[in-house]
Amino acid sequence: GGRGDYVEPKVEASAAGEDEEQSVSKEEESLLRKLLHSKLVSTKADLEILQKDPNSPLYSVKTFEALPLKPELLKGVYDMGFNAPSKIQETALPILLADPPTNMIAQSQSGTGKTAAFVLTMLSRVNPSRDYTQCLCLAPTYELALQIGSVTEKMAKNMPNVRIGYAVKGEKIARGEKSTDHILIGTPGTVCDWCLKFKSIDPKKLVVFVLDEADVMIATQGHQDQSIRIQRQLSKGCQMLLFSATYEDDVMKFAQAMIPNNPVVIKLRREEESLDNIRQFYVQCTDQEAKFQALSNIYGAMSIGQSMIFCATRRTAHWLSEKMTKDGHAVALLSGDLDIAQRAAIINRFRDGKEKVLITTNVSARGIDVEMVTVVVNFDMPILQESRQADCETYLHRIGRTGRFGKKGLAINMIDGNKSLQVMKAIEKHFNRAIHHLDADDIEALE
Ligand code: ADP
Repeated sequence: GGRGDYVEPKVEASAAGEDEEQSVSKEEESLLRKLLHSKLVSTKADLEILQKDPNSPLYSVKTFEALPLKPELLKGVYDMGFNAPSKIQETALPILLADPPTNMIAQSQSGTGKTAAFVLTMLSRVNPSRDYTQCLCLAPTYELALQIGSVTEKMAKNMPNVRIGYAVKGEKIARGEKSTDHILIGTPGTVCDWCLKFKSIDPKKLVVFVLDEADVMIATQGHQDQSIRIQRQLSKGCQMLLFSATYEDDVMKFAQAMIPNNPVVIKLRREEESLDNIRQFYVQCTDQEAKFQALSNIYGAMSIGQSMIFCATRRTAHWLSEKMTKDGHAVALLSGDLDIAQRAAIINRFRDGKEKVLITTNVSARGIDVEMVTVVVNFDMPILQESRQADCETYLHRIGRTGRFGKKGLAINMIDGNKSLQVMKAIEKHFNRAIHHLDADDIEALE
């Protein structure tokens, strides 16, 4: 199915100056994560069940065979290379597939197997001998809808009679014409039109309703209202499911409004980032050129596996990338003038080890975590845009590790004056972890 393949989003002309990084929207960030997570994100954290339903099964499965799946669907799962359920799937799938159907709200970070879980649920409940839409999935954007569609098409590989369609901008349907796609994936605006204006979907006949990426969805007020209008049309027997990567109060409020009737609520905690396994250093320099010289010494003197270097502006990132390339390093440059697909391609090349150094600005690096990186360099210290004070959260995010890697990391902060020294001191105080002085001409302390 060609339509489910990833379509490159349109590139907006940059209105900002060449130095200004454009912020990535929530939707783009989410798409970037999807494009990057070609593998399951593993986690040691335990699944929490925040709300139970006395009538639904509470056991977890370790194999797909232990689930009530049709043989062709089981084959589809194995054909995709899945050997065993992911952490969230272990607990979610028995509940999702049980009869009578149970409603669910589930939260876990991107890449942990939520999409696969609800796609499996839709495919398991669909009856291809009936010629109308039975499963409906809402996603925040056109590109995200197509991503979900491509997963559904893959998993349905051995179910040739199941029709999968898209209710997104550009898909035409005549007023009053009924959709005969068994599973529809769409964006709230178009789905609202198809349900309420064109009467192409009969919401009363839906057996599974999924709202994916609820946290991204609520960032757009219109989406929230449209989703609720659709939800209100569903029949009581329809299984209603909501998924989110984050768990803020506003997301949960929206979730509770969307998913009635005592849903099961499950949550997989994200492992906390910490500085525990990181050795932190700073190098004092006079100016930007000197920072490059110091960095050059460090890279020349020690063997560094993979590293990421953060710069404050796109201009510095370009400048540094040229200097390091001339120095003989294989450098990848990730900057805000690239679209999401180009960013994903660069990050994937870096992950594959094609380059050892990734130079980036903070804005364009959002959403990446690369397991192989052992050295992080703050070529410029992270500061908050408005106050120009230390940005401790970003610092932690750049160099912090989650417990699961366990590997020792190294952080090097390049200081070029009083201002950046103050920022560094503030960060040191905030985390109560010493950042040691490093003499760039004598880097034995690093080895
Ligand atoms: P989420 O929706 O939480 O972001 P996905 O369902 O997209 O996560 O899964 C992330 C990646 O892991 C995808 O590439 C998907 O194909 C893969 N995946 C999902 N479930 C499994 C599994 N049980 N075993 C192996 N890989 C899986």
